[in-house]
Amino acid sequence: MSNTPVRVVSIHYTLTNDQGEVIDSSRESAPLAYLEGAQNIIPGLEKELIKMAVGESRKVSVSPEEGYGVHDANLVQQVPLAAFQGVDKVEAGMQFQANTEHGPQMIVVTAVSDTLATIDANHPLAGQTLHFDVEIMEVRDASEEELAHGHVHGPGGHHHH
Ligand code: ZN
Repeated sequence: MSNTPVRVVSIHYTLTNDQGEVIDSSRESAPLAYLEGAQNIIPGLEKELIKMAVGESRKVSVSPEEGYGVHDANLVQQVPLAAFQGVDKVEAGMQFQANTEHGPQMIVVTAVSDTLATIDANHPLAGQTLHFDVEIMEVRDASEEELAHGHVHGPGGHHHH
């Protein structure tokens, strides 16, 4: 263990894909705050942010391996339409929350036939190279409570009720 305090870093970011389409941005709301070293954000982004100072902006490209992973064909399955209880019409593009052995997971329907649906449980950004435009807004030391919980409290972080 080092004695360097663990930091809370607040960033503004805009995320685009290889086609230049904006996938997500913090610019319309509060900055995103994360706890360093707690895997709150993808590793490929964190390792670049750690080199940056408050007020600095940078473009960071992250490979799938250091982002949301490569696309795993084993997570693509065909299931009977009858498995979708309570859904009138199953269509490609629909998203569902499924309970799996790894906890709740988002699945996307990618194709539908007369009796079967093809579902994909990969992260929607799996297999994609991610292009971040990031700016460091604020850096502060983490509190004891944040270290114990493994996430940030307050603006841009978790709110416990
Ligand atoms: Zn907490």
